[in-house]
Amino acid sequence: MHELAASVTGPVLEPGDAGFAEELSGFNLAVTHTPALVVGAASTADVVAAVRYAADHGLAVRVQATGHGAEHPITDGLVVTTRRLDTLSVDGGVATIGAGVRWDAVIAAAAPHGLAPVTGSSANVGVVGYLLGGGLGPMARSHGFSSDQLLGATVVAASGEVVDASPEGDAELYWALRGGKGGLGVVTEVRVRLLPLPELYAGSLTFDAPHADAVLRGWIDWTATAPRDVTTSLVTVRFPDLEFLPPHLRGRFLTTLRFAYPGSAEEGERLAAPLRALAPVETDALGTMALTEVAQIHADPTDPGPGWGFGGLLEPLDADFADVFAQTFHPTAPIPFLAIELRHLGGRTAVDVPEGSAVGGRSGAFAFHVVGAPDPSLFAEVLPAAAQGYLAAIAPWVAPETTPNYAGAIESEAEFRTLWPADVFDRLQAVRRRVDPAGIFAYGPR
Ligand SMILES: Cc1cc2nc3c(=O)[nH]c(=O)nc-3n(C[C@H](O)[C@H](O)[C@H](O)COP(=O)(O)OP(=O)(O)OC[C@H]3O[C@@H](n4cnc5c(N)ncnc54)[C@H](O)[C@@H]3O)c2cc1C
Repeated sequence: MHELAASVTGPVLEPGDAGFAEELSGFNLAVTHTPALVVGAASTADVVAAVRYAADHGLAVRVQATGHGAEHPITDGLVVTTRRLDTLSVDGGVATIGAGVRWDAVIAAAAPHGLAPVTGSSANVGVVGYLLGGGLGPMARSHGFSSDQLLGATVVAASGEVVDASPEGDAELYWALRGGKGGLGVVTEVRVRLLPLPELYAGSLTFDAPHADAVLRGWIDWTATAPRDVTTSLVTVRFPDLEFLPPHLRGRFLTTLRFAYPGSAEEGERLAAPLRALAPVETDALGTMALTEVAQIHADPTDPGPGWGFGGLLEPLDADFADVFAQTFHPTAPIPFLAIELRHLGGRTAVDVPEGSAVGGRSGAFAFHVVGAPDPSLFAEVLPAAAQGYLAAIAPWVAPETTPNYAGAIESEAEFRTLWPADVFDRLQAVRRRVDPAGIFAYGPR
């Protein structure tokens, strides 16, 4: 038994121990972590013990909740897993959420109060990892970055000290946690504002391959004058002709527009009419939606599998962008991509909270995300090369700034710096140096 096990209630495992691989397994099955030590934290005291041990023994500390953000295998140091930190309560419009909780649990706990959290597209993602990167969801234009709703957090600093990051406590660390993502400590709990959302008109419209170009062009034009409270995105998926898929999707090239309007069905229908008219709709799944169904807007995959993707932010799009999109991604395009998604930003994402926050990406007009073919033999070379080619093709529209949740693996100092505006980057680095002078919370370029 490892010496740390005496001071930790959760499991402490080394390579070769039973349960080591299961403890580290997450959403992306293409990534296998093999650190020197994993601590399955069951309390803040466990996290304190793990961080103190790592600091004393010169081990880097990393955190895994769900593994939705796993990009590269971790091969050294100590990993704290947080899934046992599963406390959750709702009181006075505020959810107090343990670091291991996923959004679906918060949505379910908030609904009986007539409240909802501002989530991302997938309710399966972990609350803390998502919030630390800002968080752009299906209602981004009407409700901003999800981190705008973060009210405070309990954080274990590199010294092992438990810090209250909030306006009343360490206000600078609180500022940093709202989008600063990593290198800021291990968060054990967050307090998040819930919002009253009486009605929601939302869902999706799916179009067949012959209409892909018209829908993309029509949607891009429409976004130029889109109402501020409507959030839309477009995804084109080239489904492989494989048996595990439902027959109506196999081998199809489908474009789906997602739409979310927090308001009445009558007004939502009026606002969505120009999009319904872009081309014949194959599947109309747009209408009044219960707050608990918000993950149906994007219908992201919920089962773990091998994943590879990259993304970033874009400047306003135009017809020339649609030309590049159509030339590079079509039913027979020789590019190993499964899907390309474009999300319309602006509205509230462009407006910072009055007290300021660290989140990067407020200047982005759109976000893009590319999903590679789910074949791990392509992940090391073929997909990165295709990504470089694609990035060169869309370079005129790529925004100088990106945002941590969309950045993917950070390979260089230059990439790291694009995650935030320059002044925010410098201020974040100062906070990181203060809470972690020796740099044990590994984050940044590999
Ligand atoms: C299917 C899918 C849909 C997604 N949809 C969206 C979306 O709509 N909008 C969006 O903005 N992003 C989205 N993302 C990206 C997602 O928000 C990030 O990958 C996020 O980091 C996932 O957090 P996690 O805790 O679930 O994952 P993990 O891989 O467990 O954690 C990711 C990182 O978060 C940090 N972290 C997690 N917990 C803690 C903690 N307690 N203390 C300190 N650091 C911690 C660590 O740096 C860790 O490496 C999506 C990802 C997937 C795979």
